[in-house]
Amino acid sequence: MNVEVQNDGQADGQGADVIVIGGGPAGLMAAIEASDLGAEVVLLESENQLGGGMLPATGHVTLCETKFAPEPRALLLQDLAHAHPDADPALLQVYVDRSGRSFARLEELGVRFAKSVQLAHMSAPWAHEMPLQNRGGGAQIVDALVAAAQSRPIRILRRVRARRLVRDQQRVTHVEVETEGRCRRFEARRAVVLATGGFSRNPDLIKHFGGPGTQRIMPVTAPGSRGDGLLMAMALGAGTRFLTAGIAASGPVDRHTGVTSIINYCGAILLNKAGRRFCDESEPYTDITLKGLSQPESLMIQIFDAKVKDNFSKTMWSKVYAGAREFTADTLEDLVTRLRHECGLDPEKALGTIHAYNAAIGSGQDAFGRRCLVGSVGAPQPITAAPFHAIIAVPGTTHFNGGLALDAQMRVLDVFNEPVPGLFSAGEVTGGFHGTGYMSGSHIGMALVFGREAGINAAAHSVRQG
Ligand SMILES: Cc1cc2nc3c(=O)[nH]c(=O)nc-3n(C[C@H](O)[C@H](O)[C@H](O)COP(=O)(O)OP(=O)(O)OC[C@H]3O[C@@H](n4cnc5c(N)ncnc54)[C@H](O)[C@@H]3O)c2cc1C
Repeated sequence: MNVEVQNDGQADGQGADVIVIGGGPAGLMAAIEASDLGAEVVLLESENQLGGGMLPATGHVTLCETKFAPEPRALLLQDLAHAHPDADPALLQVYVDRSGRSFARLEELGVRFAKSVQLAHMSAPWAHEMPLQNRGGGAQIVDALVAAAQSRPIRILRRVRARRLVRDQQRVTHVEVETEGRCRRFEARRAVVLATGGFSRNPDLIKHFGGPGTQRIMPVTAPGSRGDGLLMAMALGAGTRFLTAGIAASGPVDRHTGVTSIINYCGAILLNKAGRRFCDESEPYTDITLKGLSQPESLMIQIFDAKVKDNFSKTMWSKVYAGAREFTADTLEDLVTRLRHECGLDPEKALGTIHAYNAAIGSGQDAFGRRCLVGSVGAPQPITAAPFHAIIAVPGTTHFNGGLALDAQMRVLDVFNEPVPGLFSAGEVTGGFHGTGYMSGSHIGMALVFGREAGINAAAHSVRQG
């Protein structure tokens, strides 16, 4: 039976075995798994659309022991431990242990990856990619998971925002929600799964928990990234992990449109307002953007030519990161002059920097040690083919790293490291898997792998287990 209810006015007193809060990748996976294990499931989503932050995403998913990346879990574990400093080893282990099975499960659910690619911090091509279509990879995964959820007896309630969790002496028993300005209460007969994403769109939480400069980061995350789940669990005594490191600049975005702009991975260079480069543009975008945050006015201006633009048009990035405001000119001189008017770029310094970059290519003498386009892949080319282009980017964030403390069974832990009975969690609302770092594809990966785990464990949960 496929039931879809939208603000039907019947929510009072309704309940389910498992209530999943949040309809992004973590919540969708949790709901599907719990349902397939026989639990009656309600999925609450505060927005009109399902998919959360995965909807606009490229959709890279880091997994091992798959047909595209058959390399063993020990190797991915090693890479993750390197890329995710201070991460909880138990969470890293459960991730690699469940990785191959999660890939198979995604295929069963209709997610059809086309290949896998090797990005920064990866010693094998862990990042699985969807086919290159006009619809982005993340949206393709959303389509498959929403179809899978809708073909199961899961009640999906949109525009219903969870506001409070209620617990008795034994466990979390109810979820209070708000819909159309009215409050209602749902009973959770077995467990609640929190999958509400991060808090990158909550300026107040960023002010209190974010590190220096983080208020200047432009969020491009899911509209519901308000930190609701974090606060609801904290109100029950939940512990947290890596909140300050969690709100991190994660990628350059066009300051006009908020569209992510990583043409640097196809050969663009990044200039600050003074016309100088400030990083090796092949580094992980998190590292690049962190450096961008300390540049004048946080500007990180992408400069590229016709060849780079053509290379970019052949990537998955171009399908999802379309619509940035580009400035174009027939000569580099005209381009930098235009940029002086647009954002105050120093044109002479900029020209000198571009010429120096071009001259150093192939010599191994790049001022920032750039040897590749991205990670250890691709060879940079001189920026010489007219027309020339620029995007005026600033630091943005596509994800969130820190959040609720949880154990390897996805149980939320309180401040004394004891499970909050009946409360599970997965995805960006949690902290510990990333530590203070990041590897591409590990956010959707975490949401899918741990969402699956949370759904399985929530379905199996009973009052006696605590
Ligand atoms: C442009 C972009 C590109 C990205 N590219 C990649 C990539 O290639 N690979 C990768 O690994 N990661 C990528 N990410 C990050 C990735 O998409 C997110 O980390 C992932 O979506 C997190 O999943 P989640 O389910 O934990 O949270 P979300 O996707 O944020 O979903 C949470 C859901 O919960 C809902 N919600 C919030 N509060 C409530 C409430 N109170 N009641 C009910 N519902 C609520 C939200 O509306 C949302 O739908 C990208 C993100 C963006 C924005």
